[in-house]
Amino acid sequence: MTKSLLIELNKCTGCRSCIVACKNWNKLEPRTENRNMAEVRKAVEKAKGTDKFSVDEFTYIHEKDIKNFYKRQCMHCDDPQCVKNCPAHAIVKYDNGAVVVDKTKCEGVGLCAQVCPFDVPVMGEDKKPVKCTLCYDRITQNPALEPACVKACPSKALKFGNIDEMRQYASKFKYVYGGGLNDSYNSSVIYASKVPFENIDFKVAEIHNIANVLDALKHPVGILSIVGGAALVGLKIYRDRKKKVLEGEK
Ligand code: SF4
Ligand code: SF4
Ligand code: SF4
Repeated sequence: MTKSLLIELNKCTGCRSCIVACKNWNKLEPRTENRNMAEVRKAVEKAKGTDKFSVDEFTYIHEKDIKNFYKRQCMHCDDPQCVKNCPAHAIVKYDNGAVVVDKTKCEGVGLCAQVCPFDVPVMGEDKKPVKCTLCYDRITQNPALEPACVKACPSKALKFGNIDEMRQYASKFKYVYGGGLNDSYNSSVIYASKVPFENIDFKVAEIHNIANVLDALKHPVGILSIVGGAALVGLKIYRDRKKKVLEGEK
């Protein structure tokens, strides 16, 4: 059953408890488990200055101004660009809705980070992408746990449940984004709001031209079609060619 994370914007106070919980669960810095309140407050203050994803920020609050802000994380799209364009098939869209990177398969090409219409994945120092997992390792437990951010939200601005229930809940709102309600991404993350999204500087999907992306990456795989296995073949040809060049140089 596909699950959904619903974000009810009007209930969010910007307290950043969700961010602290995400860091603790995913072992991102700064972690605050077993720390005192002063240290937790310090971490929250630090999170306030964050306005982009990083290897330690799977989620953050984008603040247009003091009254207008919203939580960002991976949208867990249906048929995601990151999955479709990964030449190594290292990103999986699971039936439960989560889109998760398998670092053991990742070839470090970085296309996922470039083609994501929401600019979510970030490449780490190990050349592997990181991003929100929809807490795949929590929601697949038996009994299942809800995502860490959902559990931590004191305002109940975050809900987690079957996507049909979340869609039904969201349909009561004037402004909705995600879940296939007014987007083509059928994402597992749904935003519901009483105020227009323009008010919060909301980032809607932005399709990146794959040719431009490949050009920017200056990756030889770009000369080949990035369609499923073709990309993988391209990558192999590139590697074989590179190996021959290196051997020739010896
Ligand atoms: S938001 Fe980006 S990273 Fe997340 S599933 Fe969609 S395409 Fe992939
Ligand atoms: S679902 Fe999990 S990984 Fe994603 S933002 Fe929430 S706590 Fe972080
Ligand atoms: S914990 Fe809830 S209220 Fe606080 S910032 Fe996150 S979503 Fe908003």
